Amino acid sequence: MSAQRAELIAVGSELLEPWRTDTNGSYLTRVLGERGIAVRFRTVVGDTSEDLQEAFRVALGRSDLIVATGGLGPTIDDLTREAVAGLLGLPLLPDEAIARRIEERFRRLGREMPPQNRRQAMVPRGAEALPNRLGTAPGLWMTSGGVRIVLLPGVPEEMRQMTEASVLPRLGASGERFAHRIIKIAGLAESEVDRRLDDVARRAAPVAWTILAGPGQVEIHLRERVREGEPPEGIERIDGEIAAVLGAHVAARDEETIEEVAGRLLAGLGATLATAESLTGGGIAERLTRTPGASRYFRGGVVAYGDEAKGAVLGVAAETLRARGAVSRETALEMAHGARRLFTSTWALAATGYAGPVGGGPGRPPGRVILGLVGPGVESARDVNLPGSRRAVRVRSCRLALDMLRRALLDAETSL
Ligand code: ATP
Ligand code: MG
Repeated sequence: MSAQRAELIAVGSELLEPWRTDTNGSYLTRVLGERGIAVRFRTVVGDTSEDLQEAFRVALGRSDLIVATGGLGPTIDDLTREAVAGLLGLPLLPDEAIARRIEERFRRLGREMPPQNRRQAMVPRGAEALPNRLGTAPGLWMTSGGVRIVLLPGVPEEMRQMTEASVLPRLGASGERFAHRIIKIAGLAESEVDRRLDDVARRAAPVAWTILAGPGQVEIHLRERVREGEPPEGIERIDGEIAAVLGAHVAARDEETIEEVAGRLLAGLGATLATAESLTGGGIAERLTRTPGASRYFRGGVVAYGDEAKGAVLGVAAETLRARGAVSRETALEMAHGARRLFTSTWALAATGYAGPVGGGPGRPPGRVILGLVGPGVESARDVNLPGSRRAVRVRSCRLALDMLRRALLDAETSL
């Protein structure tokens, strides 16, 4: 097994600005990972000769595979080729075959080759040019002191095509790959997940364990190096241990979302759902309808933002709104019952609350959210205080509502 120490360098000053992301790096870590090559460092560097050489100098000292993207173009700020040749002390030699190919490419497009494109036909001595079917800049493959260095253009489609056609085949079959699993946990804070899974995490090796927290959701990312064609036994073991400790808090795995799990459970029960939303403004319904085929179980939803709509459309009693207020357990449940009636669904989910930044007066802080759920033999409300901005409160409310539904459906399923 060649445990290669791989490193990526993303070249481009625009990547240091907030508007552009190094998506080439995400792609490369994935495809290299699928071949059992773990990326240990990723550097983003601007279009400056000095900085480029610094990045490559550091990489040469700690890695045995370096893949760089960007800066192979014809313009004055495309410096990767020159910087790397300079660092390695290699002369750049014109490659006539490449020059002809670039010229032909321009001719086919009915244009003269601008003189500056000749730079793309310069190859450091001893380097191999990798053909670029989609653009002009060829890639370069070279070796220095046992370190393999690959230079690819920055344009994502070109980079991907060349990686698949030329780079991955040259890296050879390692006979290994990385298997991944994401375990999504709902309803527990990160510190709590950490505490409960302390023992499991300690025993995880050789499975790599990463814990990531977002608003109202914690994810555990597992990674294991496995032989080609073999199942990830370590991941299966850890997954089982996590499930045993956390039970129903494990909400979904990998790409699956909570709404997909809830949808699957609804479909399995032959049940249907309706929503009644106030502060989430239809966000719950929007998430439910992202899944193709959601019409099998999702009947529809109402956005009843004002009190009038809560009364007129959902049938919330004027007395409830007056005596209890729009943000109350009673209102949330009457909203849910109203939606269930309106859409003749098996289940209905309702959300009402103060999204912020202001609340509803004394004792009614922003972030106070009440969720209501009604279904066969079920009538429950959850009253929570959610932290964060208006946006965060709304996102968390949707997630919490869908998770409340998921848990109730799990109970319904087991009581069958
Ligand atoms: P070309 O030979 O086609 O000019 P190049 O090697 O000079 O390619 P750049 O000029 O650095 O490539 O980048 C071309 C385009 O690709 C730009 O739009 C740039 O933002 C985008 N790009 C470059 N690097 C990355 C990256 N790491 N991730 C995503 N996009 C990138
Ligand atoms: Mg560039």
